[in-house]
Amino acid sequence: MLGNGIIKGLAETARNFFGSYVDKERLTTVQFPEERLPQIEGTRDFPFLVYDGDDWEKGLRCVSCHICEKECPPKCIFIEKSKDKKPDAVGKLQFYPVRFDIDVSVCMSCQICVEVCPFDAIKMDVEFELSSDDRFGGLLHHKDKLAKSNEYYHKIHPTEAAAVDAALAEDREKEKEKQKQAAAAAAAAAAAKAAAAANPPPAAETNTDASSKEETK
Ligand code: SF4
Ligand code: SF4
Repeated sequence: MLGNGIIKGLAETARNFFGSYVDKERLTTVQFPEERLPQIEGTRDFPFLVYDGDDWEKGLRCVSCHICEKECPPKCIFIEKSKDKKPDAVGKLQFYPVRFDIDVSVCMSCQICVEVCPFDAIKMDVEFELSSDDRFGGLLHHKDKLAKSNEYYHKIHPTEAAAVDAALAEDREKEKEKQKQAAAAAAAAAAAKAAAAANPPPAAETNTDASSKEETK
């Protein structure tokens, strides 16, 4: 019947309106900002940079590879890579971003930067109240504002953050194992070299044999 959908919609609205006086479940609105609905885990607004440990500058996972900057569709990420390397949170020497800015007035919350980052260094935040009275720089967020701890990441996206932690722990374990094997191989090579130096091949004898053969001829 023509208009059936409209009637159903109006009936649902009426049920919620009158029902809200007797049933809290029917109260579909809240008095924002005093009241807030709990955010679902999949909520995403703008990206932030994850750091490990207590020192945000030292612990930033970002190694300034520029991949997110290149892939960002509206080009609102601006990175300047360091010339030197410094130890990251696990002590590995890495490049780091001297500058990492995101213009959130341009960002369209597509999450592509998160998907392409090979280091799990950038994730989506749930913070959306970012309005500012500084129309020229207030929405250009610098790395000190973008940096948020791994604990914060766990708080806003617990399931995802736990999976990332497990994958990172596995990678770090593999890296440690690789370093251990490389160190063992280097030690074995050094020992073999030292043994060869301590017991040189009997080169002189060989030469004498050669000269006697020469003399016999
Ligand atoms: S956030 Fe990730 S993809 Fe972007 S520069 Fe840093 S490490 Fe590379
Ligand atoms: S969420 Fe999308 S638009 Fe925003 S910085 Fe990341 S890639 Fe760019």
